[in-house]
Amino acid sequence: MPMPLQLRYARRPRRAEPRPTVELMPSISVHDIRNAIPRNYNRLNEVEGGCKYPSLRSLRFSFNHMEIEDYSGRIQSFTIKWARTYFGPHRPIFLCSCGRGAIRLYAKYGSYKCRRCHNAVYTSQRQSAKGRKRFKACKLRLNKLGGLPSIDEPIASKAKWKHRKRYERLRNQVRALEAVAKTKRSQDIATKVFTYHLP
Ligand SMILES: [Zn+2]
Repeated sequence: MPMPLQLRYARRPRRAEPRPTVELMPSISVHDIRNAIPRNYNRLNEVEGGCKYPSLRSLRFSFNHMEIEDYSGRIQSFTIKWARTYFGPHRPIFLCSCGRGAIRLYAKYGSYKCRRCHNAVYTSQRQSAKGRKRFKACKLRLNKLGGLPSIDEPIASKAKWKHRKRYERLRNQVRALEAVAKTKRSQDIATKVFTYHLP
């Protein structure tokens, strides 16, 4: 569907800089650090930023608190909330300074906040309907079929240990998406975007 006229000629807010892309920002996911959080009140745990968080010197955890320190010595702290899941152990969630819960905290100019505080958008929010189909096909190619995330490459052949029916279903899904998405001029999607979507 082409862009409606009201939208095309609408007055848009003039931004000093474009909205950042979620997938391209450095981030801390609660899933990655879950095991570093001590499970009782009187313990503290410290881990180095290492290669996982190259801009951070250290991350310190207590039962309901996370403190991160970068190489300039700036310290930012976040509350960790334990949410009930009703089917197992409680699950940790970061609390952003805005009061929202967040699974991931994103960095912009060294400040870690939730996605909404940074006013960040997902790659798919920038794409047209066709572009989103292409993006989905690329993700399936990479994550499910084990090939390269490019529409110009042949679809990866079935690995020996994979089920034929499942493989064929996925392959047909990719073909159907790409049949709609194929356009003459299509830009490649940044590889970094895909690393965010890896399982
Ligand atoms: Zn926030």
